[in-house]
Amino acid sequence: MHSSALTVLAYCASLASARGWSTIEINDGQWSEVIERDVCVIGGGASGTHAAVSLLDSNKSVVIVERNDHLGGHTRTYLDTATGIPIDIGVVIFHPVPVVFDFFSKFDVPLINMSAVVANEPGQPANFSLPANLYSIFQVNSDFRDGSPVTPDVPSGQAEAIERLAEAMAQYPYLLEGYDLPDPVPEDLYMPFGAFIEKYNATAAFPLVYQISQGMGDLLNVATIYAIKYFNLKDLQYISSGYYTEARGNNSLLYARASQYIGAENMLLESSIVSTNRKNTTHGQLELLVSTRDEGLKLLQCGQVLLTIPPTLNNLRGWDLTPEELSVFTQYITANGYWTGLVKNVGMNQTISNVNSAATTPFNIPVLPALYQLTPVGVLDDVWWAKFAANNPTLTKEEAKSYAERQIATLQKANDIPVTQPEWLEFESHTPFHLQVTFEAIKDGFFRNLTALQGGLDGKMFYSGAAFHTHHSTLLWQFNQDVVIPQMMGTA
Ligand SMILES: Cc1cc2nc3c(=O)[nH]c(=O)nc-3n(C[C@H](O)[C@H](O)[C@H](O)COP(=O)(O)OP(=O)(O)OC[C@H]3O[C@@H](n4cnc5c(N)ncnc54)[C@H](O)[C@@H]3O)c2cc1C
Repeated sequence: MHSSALTVLAYCASLASARGWSTIEINDGQWSEVIERDVCVIGGGASGTHAAVSLLDSNKSVVIVERNDHLGGHTRTYLDTATGIPIDIGVVIFHPVPVVFDFFSKFDVPLINMSAVVANEPGQPANFSLPANLYSIFQVNSDFRDGSPVTPDVPSGQAEAIERLAEAMAQYPYLLEGYDLPDPVPEDLYMPFGAFIEKYNATAAFPLVYQISQGMGDLLNVATIYAIKYFNLKDLQYISSGYYTEARGNNSLLYARASQYIGAENMLLESSIVSTNRKNTTHGQLELLVSTRDEGLKLLQCGQVLLTIPPTLNNLRGWDLTPEELSVFTQYITANGYWTGLVKNVGMNQTISNVNSAATTPFNIPVLPALYQLTPVGVLDDVWWAKFAANNPTLTKEEAKSYAERQIATLQKANDIPVTQPEWLEFESHTPFHLQVTFEAIKDGFFRNLTALQGGLDGKMFYSGAAFHTHHSTLLWQFNQDVVIPQMMGTA
């Protein structure tokens, strides 16, 4: 992205709007190309890529605007150059449902049931035909603040508590389909999740939920609606029957093949929206001015727009937001911090996954910001999967990385091994992760207003992505298939 060019354009945009001109008018004739499409998809992550493929299959012409140089969003796969071994360090698991099987099989990308394979034995040479995350290891819990060993409290009656939690969650089956909530909003949904599990006598289920809910920050204190959409009824169902993953541990293959299918001419990579004119066009199409990687400005003329990026005001600079969009998107007050990486030269015992469990907190929840875990990948010598999280998005990527390095040094000292200078093969920011509004806003109908945005601007403006459902690839594809695309096609 040309950040300096964008800054100048953003400045021009503010001057222009003060004088009543739009940036698009000012740049009239300056673009290298006008691209007309039925649908312009903004963001090429899980939901944008799936939607673009579905729309193409419904004979719609599309273009994707994506700020990265590839599609896939939070999907991240490290490819070891020497061996060709892939290691997924972002999105790993999917539910065994038709929308997943159809999407993967369309691109001839094989899946495996993670519970149905014989995992590697700890300490034995890795089976290279299995995904790296199926390299089986012993789990050791320690408090990463000082490296001391911790034996986590195992609450009694966990199985019964999980059943009670499932019953409580089953009262809200519509949460699997988006944010179409009843009015008034049930109190359960805007109370803190800690209060919800207490109310339903399900606190013993919390350690399991926390384990599956990485990235959710201070889970006991997030609104229940967020917690039980992220760890949802379907997770409860598939946790025992098995999640699926790409057969070699390369989920990026799905997006690479989807990119080929969509076609380079339909993707503007390393590109972002500079300005939009969606309200006052003479020809009825929505106009988006895009700053592209190699070819300067391009003007998109779109029959419809599908927005799938996190709808923060920062991300929507230059957009001619409607009062309804503005009143919804200004309500996001926070998000979480989430980073993942692969680190080499740690020197610790490679049959052991180190899990961060605080000695002194309820349910031994780690004190964030901190590494959740440091896990050997098994298929590469002395390479470790690191997951680092924070309760808010304020740490920079460099700060998070240096924090993680200090915790690795703490673990090394506690294990009486030399403190090394770890070498990062990858360190990816997924921050800001999981946008949130206040409990009060949820009670006051935030999600009703969010959902009501669909089909705005006379049926031309649509939305998908985690902010409109949850951070879950399977659920987002289902949401596209069952809710968003039918609305766009007028078949809902
Ligand atoms: C570390 C990690 C592990 C996860 N593991 C799993 C898992 O195992 N299973 C699962 O189902 N879910 C998992 N998730 C959640 C899942 O990845 C997300 O829910 C999903 O990616 C959200 O899809 P999305 O389309 O809303 O956003 P994204 O996939 O993030 O896509 C948004 C896209 O928009 C682009 N973008 C952002 N801003 C702009 C802009 N201004 N202009 C242009 N483009 C922009 C981004 O680069 C990105 O490609 C994981 C998430 C993380 C962070």
